[in-house]
Amino acid sequence: MKLQRNYKFWFCTGSQDLYGDECLRNVAEHSRIIVDELNKSGILPFEVVLKPTLITNELIRKTFNEANIDEDCAGVIVWCHTFSPAKSWILGLQEYRKPLLHLHTQFNEEIPYDSIDMDFMNENQSAHGDREWGHMVTRMGIERKVVVGHWTSQAVREKIASWMRTAIGIVESSHVRVMRVADNMRNVAVTEGDKVEAQLKFGWEVDAYPVNEIAEAVGAVSESDTNALVDEYYDKYEILLEGRDADEFKRHVAVQAQIEIGFERFLEEKNYQAIVTHFGDLGALKQLPGLAIQRLMEKGYGFGAEGDWKVAAMVRIMKLMSAGMKDAKGTSMLEDYTYNLVPGKEGILQAHMLEICPTIAEGPISIKCQPLSMGDREDPARLVFTSKEGPGIATSLIDLGDRFRLIINSVDCKKVEKPMPKLPVATAFWTPQPDFATGCEAWILAGGAHHTAFSYDITAEQMGDWAAAMGIEAVYIDNNTNIRDFKKDLMLGNVVFGK
Ligand code: MN
Repeated sequence: MKLQRNYKFWFCTGSQDLYGDECLRNVAEHSRIIVDELNKSGILPFEVVLKPTLITNELIRKTFNEANIDEDCAGVIVWCHTFSPAKSWILGLQEYRKPLLHLHTQFNEEIPYDSIDMDFMNENQSAHGDREWGHMVTRMGIERKVVVGHWTSQAVREKIASWMRTAIGIVESSHVRVMRVADNMRNVAVTEGDKVEAQLKFGWEVDAYPVNEIAEAVGAVSESDTNALVDEYYDKYEILLEGRDADEFKRHVAVQAQIEIGFERFLEEKNYQAIVTHFGDLGALKQLPGLAIQRLMEKGYGFGAEGDWKVAAMVRIMKLMSAGMKDAKGTSMLEDYTYNLVPGKEGILQAHMLEICPTIAEGPISIKCQPLSMGDREDPARLVFTSKEGPGIATSLIDLGDRFRLIINSVDCKKVEKPMPKLPVATAFWTPQPDFATGCEAWILAGGAHHTAFSYDITAEQMGDWAAAMGIEAVYIDNNTNIRDFKKDLMLGNVVFGK
């Protein structure tokens, strides 16, 4: 998927005029070289734009306010080349509302032992200039990322690149609009939540539509448009009739093609980027949207099942954060379904009734048509596949009544030992870190849900930084987790975030 905006990041160097014009010329020239080299590195997913050196209160305030109103600016990177008295930054920082990265670097990598004098020291003093600046940002309680090291280092560039994707998740969050065409499944707790608080914290608009309005849009899709998409499906995917009549099978697939087109037109027309459905509330729809939703997720839409709008929004955000990533392995809604408890082979089989995003697939993708075993509609067509191996993160955003908590579990995805020929759904399989028992115990203690927003491409650090920018609690379950300390993390969260 592609982002709708051509996002850029501004590079603002802090300095002062105490050391004369020549020093300021060097500061500007060094900044230009750093920005040029960062852009040429091929590591950063977005362009860095050099801004004039920031010296005065007036220019700093003006620059940060321009960053606020420039819709293509997704964040500001600040570095203090020389000392830059931080009181000059207070008003600008107070008014700034976008992601902030503090790049703690210096132009020279090595101390120039033979030539170093006091002029050099005064010109190249980020070691204390950046401390002055960092002090002010901390005193003001402003969330920011700090990246430390020489600007030519691959590790530093990769950290900047990673933060840029976090920043996209932050600035895009307030543009996420979720369409609910069904309420939450009756009696289910974890899919509920405070939509007003979600808009306050994350900027999400979560609106409901009668399911038959979108069903009408589906009904309005022409037979020729539908058939053209069915042809595309038949070209792209394997068809597994499994004894069904070929024409009857195709008619079932066509229902999903019509839903895909109708849903997408309805979402686009009304400017929504995420959707929830519910198998028990389908109105005039002939099938639970399965293949159709899988295809929409592949295009970048967020999705949550059974009315789970929090997961729909999180899937959307994680897809935005990984947009355009080279060699991306995929992002999807998943559900913890059933366990393998054989010692040494423990893991969680991830699936859903139908709606798993094919971006996480590995190997062939097939269309099957099978009874749903729930609800009262036609057997829905769906894409069936297994998923990639390797590390990923499963996230669960829960509403604790007085606040949101984001639970982030690092997981190791594996192949299941044997094929599952009778299971007509897409699957993934993973072992939670640090191990199955500790990971599951921590997840349950934290109150994690059974629906998750999962990604191979986004890191726990990125999601934790996103949560911090949203002003909500985040807890990590990974190879550093032990239950005794994890309980303390939860207690600390209650103290800091509880009301
Ligand atoms: Mn579910």
